[in-house]
Order: sequence, then C-alpha cells, then structure tokens
Amino acid sequence: MLSVVPDPVVVTVPAKVNLHLAVGDLRDDGYHELSTVFQALSLSDEVSVVPADTLTVQVQGEGAQFVPTDNRNLVWRAAEAVADRAGREPAVKISVRKGIPVAGGMAGGSADAAATLLALDHLWGLELDRATLHELAADLGSDVPFALHGGTAVGSGRGEHLLPVLARDTFHWVLALAKGGLSTPKVFAELDRLRAEGRPPRAGTPDALMQALAAGDAATLAPLLVNDLQPAALSLMPELRRTLRAGEAAGALAGIVSGSGPTCAFLCADEQSAIQVGAELAGVGVCRTVRVAAGPVPGARLADIEEGR
Ligand code: ATP
Repeated sequence: MLSVVPDPVVVTVPAKVNLHLAVGDLRDDGYHELSTVFQALSLSDEVSVVPADTLTVQVQGEGAQFVPTDNRNLVWRAAEAVADRAGREPAVKISVRKGIPVAGGMAGGSADAAATLLALDHLWGLELDRATLHELAADLGSDVPFALHGGTAVGSGRGEHLLPVLARDTFHWVLALAKGGLSTPKVFAELDRLRAEGRPPRAGTPDALMQALAAGDAATLAPLLVNDLQPAALSLMPELRRTLRAGEAAGALAGIVSGSGPTCAFLCADEQSAIQVGAELAGVGVCRTVRVAAGPVPGARLADIEEGR
C-alpha cells in the first residue's frame, strides 16, 4: 500500500522594527499603553505545518536552542487557538526556521504565531476572515496582528489596534544583532524604575515621522526615529551605546534600539550605503552579527502563493 506524505503548508513572516515607540504609564491590567509605528523588514522566519497524530514543534536556525518547543512556544498556543475555533484537535507538526533573532526585540515569536494562524487556516481549509484572524492574533500577543498585517502601520492599545500608514519607496536598514538577548518584561520594568527615579524623555506624537514616511525621505525620517524603551535597554545592556555610536560613525543616518532590544537598527540613505555600513559594523566587533534589510515588506504569506506570482 502506498502511503502519501502530504505537502507541508509553508508561510514566511517578517520581523518588525518600531520607528516610533511611545510607552504610556502602566495600566491596571499590567500592560503599558503603547503608541507605535511598526515597519515590517525583509528578515523572516519560515513556519511549515503538516498533519500529524499529535501537536509537536521543532525549531531550527540561529538561536533555536533558546526557543522552547512545548506550550511556552507561541506557535503551540496559536495552533491551540485555531484548533479551538475550528472545533478540532491541533494534530499537526509545526517546524519553525528562525531567521529573526531570538529575544532580539524584532518580535520573532509573535511572527511565528501569526504564521501558524495563516498556515493552519490554509491546511484545514477554514477560510477564516481577516477580522477573525486579527482577533485570534491579538489574543496571542500585542505584536502578532502586525506580523499578519505587515507593511508600515500605526499601533495603539497594547500595539494590537492597527491602522496602515502610507510609506513611499523602500527604506534600507542595517541590523546589529547583539551577543545576548533581553527579556521584554524586564525592559518594561526597567523603564518603570527609571521613570520612578527621574524623567527619561517621552516620545511625542508621530505626525512628522508619518509625513517623512509618506514622502519616502530617509534623511528626514532619520532624526525622528524614537523609542521610549531605549534608555531602559541601554541601562540593562550599556554596551549597546558603543554599537549605536559605531553604526552612526560608519555612515548610517540614525541608529535606534529595536523595540525592547538588544538588536540595534540603523537607517541608511540607500541600499549601497546599507551594504557599506553593514560591512564596516561587522568589522568593528561591537555586535554578534550584522544583517542588511529593507522595508516595508508584506506580512505573513503562503510561500507557494508568493512563488506562483
Ligand atoms: P517581543 O515580541 O516580546 O519583543 P522579542 O522579539 O524580543 O520579543 P522573541 O524572539 O519573540 O523576542 O522571543 C522572546 C522569548 O519568547 C524567547 O526568549 C523565547 O523563550 C520565547 N519564545 C516563544 N516562542 C518563540 C518563538 N516561536 N520564537 C522565538 N522565541 C519564542
């Protein structure tokens, strides 16, 4: 008897950088009110799913040893959430190939969760509408809806209420991946501590930044990049100051800690400049590794659909 091995459903999903991240005060529910502008970058994870007897998760790629493969993994929770909605067992094998730095402030775990929602929707032929996928995503975590959405968007609430932002042309980035990771809750706690002690500056509104995005003008955008979590990330990992200085000295227009860090993102004038800055940064030894990326790119998408276009 022939046994037929089903083809996996494969979804690619991008990393994000926050171009503007304003953190409000701690809410009663333990979250901070956020106002942020996200951009999806051409640095991605790949998630594939195939039917199996029980739910299992495998993780490969850089940093895979730091990623749990049980129900602490966001893809596990995403699978349970979709299965619950569909009224079926989450009987699938999920394989994650990491290209997004783990615990790097680029929402890799959230990206994988978004990819899992889309992959299982396709595998099980559910045809969930966008609103349902968005709702499942928001329940899994603040950054998950944006990973589905992609492009450039303004997020509010915990980051889960999204509105698309017009961004003209492509922006070119260099990402400096740090030697360790930073825990997002610890970075928020450090910000609360710094705020209790004094008054680290707070980001204003992103109006001017959105105009620079609409104009596709990297030089105008650069000085407007802002991240309220940056002082907290620098306080926990002071060596990031050297990384930021080195990127700017290498010719980047501006450098910023990405989200809760410790990845540093450098905006460059064009692709050529990004390649040069990346090469120079890699040579100074201030970070573990360097990636050149561009944005905005689309959110989670089926790999075969993309290839068929
Ligand atoms: P955040 O989205 O909170 O800013 P981050 O981008 O800094 O997080 P992630 O790579 O998403 O970092 O991972 C944070 C932690 O979440 C990891 O240390 C890991 O233990 C756990 N985790 C759970 N699922 C995943 C996953 N699929 N990929 C990576 N990490 C995961």
